[in-house]
Amino acid sequence: MQYESASKGDDVDLRKAGMGRARFEDGFFNLIAGDRSSAGNVLEVIDPTTGTTIATVPDIDQTTLNAAVKAAREAFPSWCATSVQNRKHILEACLNRIREHGEELLPLLTAELGRPLSTSRWELDAFTEAYAPALISISIGDEKTHSETLGEVTKRFVPLGVVCAISPWNAPVLLAYLKVFTALLTGNTVVLKPSPFAPLTVCRIADRIKDLIPKGVFNVITGGDALGPWMTAHPGFDKVTFTGSTETGKRVLQSASSTLKRVTLELGGNDPAIVLPDAEPEEIAASLFWSMFMLNGHACISLKRLFVPEALYPRMVAALKRYAAGVKTGDGFDPESDLGPVQNRLQFARLKAVWDEIKESGTQLVYQGTVPDQGLFFPVTILDNPQEDLPFVTKEVFGPIRSIFRYSDLDDAIKRANATPYGLGASVWGKNAEQLHFVADRLDAGTVWINQHANLIGDYPFSGHKQSGLGAEFGIEGLKAYCNVRVIAG
Ligand code: NAD
Repeated sequence: MQYESASKGDDVDLRKAGMGRARFEDGFFNLIAGDRSSAGNVLEVIDPTTGTTIATVPDIDQTTLNAAVKAAREAFPSWCATSVQNRKHILEACLNRIREHGEELLPLLTAELGRPLSTSRWELDAFTEAYAPALISISIGDEKTHSETLGEVTKRFVPLGVVCAISPWNAPVLLAYLKVFTALLTGNTVVLKPSPFAPLTVCRIADRIKDLIPKGVFNVITGGDALGPWMTAHPGFDKVTFTGSTETGKRVLQSASSTLKRVTLELGGNDPAIVLPDAEPEEIAASLFWSMFMLNGHACISLKRLFVPEALYPRMVAALKRYAAGVKTGDGFDPESDLGPVQNRLQFARLKAVWDEIKESGTQLVYQGTVPDQGLFFPVTILDNPQEDLPFVTKEVFGPIRSIFRYSDLDDAIKRANATPYGLGASVWGKNAEQLHFVADRLDAGTVWINQHANLIGDYPFSGHKQSGLGAEFGIEGLKAYCNVRVIAG
């Protein structure tokens, strides 16, 4: 992804230069039936580093939602008849167009998320160079068998129709456009609603690629709290694909049931990791730190509860503290920043409430970093062996607060790691391959990593066990979730 940032030594205001390249003057629009669309009402989007409003997006009403659904319905028959090869060519052209716009998209993503440019680059590259190509490379062909009773039997995977895609703010481009690409690849048309907290880059990308996709096949709409529920209840959708909190996911499932829409839910997580007695804390501290604090802790699959053997605990704590002390939280346009602010005021208020609970509980800290005075900044915070029934341990903490626990018995650690309603990711760290696999097989999560965490690619299904989700995205399983199966026999 192209973006030449000025360096700290250059005599320029890096923030001003970055904001200038984001092309705010071009505006932010919805995309309906292939055209730019605005609304009388607007939503303000803030820059979390300064707290100032940086742009507005349309706040649409139900009539406009109906227009978007109608456009997607009308576009469906011809799009679904388009060959898979053609659809793949169109999606590849979209990826190239996104790559060409790195100069504006990278700073725009940093402006609305507050996070470092390096993190924005990671997200856009992850989409254009890893996840999307992996998805595009998968094909769902017919599956043919012979049956004594039925004769030739063909299993064919046919598109569902119109997909309602709802995405969160924490990795807004990746999580929104993976849904869009999966829907389009499988022959569905789609209406996407990004989070009102971070809609700018998603809308800008739609605007830049709109001429490459037939009108109505891909639509983007934005709105306030009422829009999501209108969408999930709308009879014009055949499927809802939702990524967000477990709480909202339950509401989505209930609402979608009114017309029996197919539903995929990617929800919250409270991922555990177990360090084995043969691990070397100093060797794994950096990886563990970034597994915990990736995206400033705004990641469903970040490591949230770290279990460490009693004997290694002092070394693990010392190694994590040493590493954390070198990590800087600050303005995302400053190349020296490793982490940025909390992305929105609601999430910031939630973290402040969690912090009050922590203080009230008397929990000790392993480490707390420092942050700038202005803006929605919250410091990197590591809790020292907190009581495991406290709400800031049992619930998902979506921000830079993480817990580290002692254990003396491995079976007990596995039990404690699994003692959660969530089951998104988990990991185990150590040297003995047999023991690593023994533990990995006992962790109840959709993805279990060995000596790594939160490392995903688009080739394998990503799914949450328990209350972390329903169904899967990515991989062949993810693609099939956007299809009905039709059996043709005889
Ligand atoms: P959220 O649930 O508040 O919102 C997600 C999206 O749903 C937003 O677009 C929002 O506007 C919309 N929405 C809100 N209420 C709705 C309703 N009643 N009906 C339909 N749509 C509604 O989540 P968030 O704060 O944006 O994101 C953070 C959460 O997302 C965390 O819990 C995180 O773990 C989870 N998440 C999960 C994954 C995953 O793949 N499993 C990935 C990223 C984030």
